[in-house]
Amino acid sequence: MLKNIWKDPVWSKVISAAFLWLITLGYAYVKSITDSISIKQAVSQLSEPRVSVLQILLGITVILFLYFVIREIGKPIESNGKASIYNDKQTILMRLNKVEYPNEGVLFRWQVFFDFNGNPFIDELDAYCTKHGSTPLRFIDNSCSVRDCSNSQRQVDFNATKNQLESELIDKWEKLNN
Ligand SMILES: [Zn+2]
Repeated sequence: MLKNIWKDPVWSKVISAAFLWLITLGYAYVKSITDSISIKQAVSQLSEPRVSVLQILLGITVILFLYFVIREIGKPIESNGKASIYNDKQTILMRLNKVEYPNEGVLFRWQVFFDFNGNPFIDELDAYCTKHGSTPLRFIDNSCSVRDCSNSQRQVDFNATKNQLESELIDKWEKLNN
């Protein structure tokens, strides 16, 4: 949501101005406490030329810091034109989200996510039966819901399957990064 805002130059100007106001008000608030004066006095003091060189340097440092932070946030948008938070290797890995076992008549679909350390993991793993026409039919309660289907006679072990698929995913991830 925030990333989309930065695409629009008008919005980014408004937000920059709001940031500056927040910094000014924050500084005035701290100054009003430390100098035991009202916020109004602190703000009017800020607009007087008595502001020290140190304060100006501090202000420039804060603005530069925010500029670089905002630029880093906006980077993925500039590089590929859409608000992707994933890099190229992550995108490749995220496409590995299904596998079919034709002999078993089973298809697995899942989503690839990345944890805070950047390691991939699998979630939303679902099994589908491919023995009923062109559209794979999702399992209900670990097996095919169609009577007399061979996949309704046995149950998928989701924990073991997830572990195996995730192990393969981690292996591919390591090879991508070496
Ligand atoms: Zn079936």
